[in-house]
Amino acid sequence: MRLSSGHGSRHVPETVSFDNLPLSFHQPFHRRNSVDMHITHHGGNEGVTGSCHQLHYNDNDSVLVDCGSFQGRDARRFPSAEIQFPLDGIQALVLTHVHIDHIGRIPYLLEAGFNKPIYCTPPTARFLPIMLEDSIRLGITRNKKVVAQILKEVNSLIKAVPYGKWQPLPRGASFRYSPAGHILGSAYIDFDHGDERFVFSGDIGSRCTPILREPASPERADVLVLESTYGDRLHEGRETRLARLEAILCETMENRGVTIIPAFSLGRTQELLFELNQIMEGIDHRTNCSMLHAIDIIVDSPMAIKLTDIYEQMSEYWSEEANEILTVDRQPFVFKNLVELDQAGESRGNIEYLKRSGKPAIVIAGSGMCTGGRVVEYLKTFISKPTTDIIFVGFQAYGTLGRKIQDCHGGKCGVSIDREEFLVRAKTHTLTGYSAHADQNDLLRFVQGMKSPPKEIRLVHGEYRPRQVLAEKLNALGIKTIACTNPNEQPPSEDRPQSDPAE
Ligand SMILES: [Zn+2]
Repeated sequence: MRLSSGHGSRHVPETVSFDNLPLSFHQPFHRRNSVDMHITHHGGNEGVTGSCHQLHYNDNDSVLVDCGSFQGRDARRFPSAEIQFPLDGIQALVLTHVHIDHIGRIPYLLEAGFNKPIYCTPPTARFLPIMLEDSIRLGITRNKKVVAQILKEVNSLIKAVPYGKWQPLPRGASFRYSPAGHILGSAYIDFDHGDERFVFSGDIGSRCTPILREPASPERADVLVLESTYGDRLHEGRETRLARLEAILCETMENRGVTIIPAFSLGRTQELLFELNQIMEGIDHRTNCSMLHAIDIIVDSPMAIKLTDIYEQMSEYWSEEANEILTVDRQPFVFKNLVELDQAGESRGNIEYLKRSGKPAIVIAGSGMCTGGRVVEYLKTFISKPTTDIIFVGFQAYGTLGRKIQDCHGGKCGVSIDREEFLVRAKTHTLTGYSAHADQNDLLRFVQGMKSPPKEIRLVHGEYRPRQVLAEKLNALGIKTIACTNPNEQPPSEDRPQSDPAE
């Protein structure tokens, strides 16, 4: 079976060359000899997507940490999803979590001949087949037999490892998962070999992420490979974002508009449902007036509905606060005016209904960066109406439709959707507090909470500017920090800060 990524040019993975790093990143360097661990990056070191790092723990053995897809601008720079590096000596794939930019290239890894364990936490083991199935159908094939064959292979390789348990790897290495607070099942990973410890942060959660516990810092690290998605900015606090969401909800009811929230089906959707439930109960309580008939909250995503069920079943991984809410509300993701659409035809019907009825509604639909999925049809229908609000609750990568809409304030520009031009008259909002990613302070806290500071930090999973800004902060703390793990990387000409989240 041959999987085609649909692109001709091949991407040559970047290998970290310690000799060619920019002068500012020289001395003192982590000493390398035949037994030292070292890393080769196969993605995720120059952008926010395509995470895939190879940790060589001796001359012959290594593990892969994540194997994700490139998206948005990264996908244009690295158009081939095919695995371009040799698999010799790779003893396992160790996953940090199940977002597609961390797992999406697994089918290509299997195609290249990988047949070693795929380690992950127990919640990730539940989510992985669902997320992969969706990604295969969207990006590789809709052939049921091929999809089933890939999933069967993946399922035969998955090995769930509980948080906190050291898992041995061949020839003396071992690793351990700790909660990362990003999405359910997310983890950072300590890798030990001899006296050395390398830590891969995966994606770190924001401190105010609902449902999940704030991550505890690692104990120590010779090298910490740290994400830097929001290394240059701070999120608004929980109270602020709840107040802003409530204000938009009220305005939607008042102007009988439609509010569209493009959201990843895993993580953000559950957080939104959890907090929308609390907001509406709060309004009911304060005004003594039921929201039941005032507005529909529509989740238009079969996958989000499936994943929310699993979220609900795995409350042992929730925060204490979320579990407390569970004692008074057995179903914190379900409320009376919640409409779940899981059949394909229901989505079209719902759009027609909203157009016809003029009933206010909040629609949560994927994909999170508007690069496809059901949200696109909602955007095409409602983006040019001034009564529409679009709320971005997650990172929008350069080059994605989500980013273009986010950067298009005040109806002054148009966007092209499916080769058709649309004037953006909708109001756009960015609620950064819902980001499942740590902000600059969270990242600094993660590092400063370590019992002994890391000897070296390498920043990955961030665009150029956030990596540079965070590196400055960490270097100022006296921690040697490498912002560019590819010494030949050039700052992209269009790289500039995101639109201000406060608008
Ligand atoms: Zn993630």
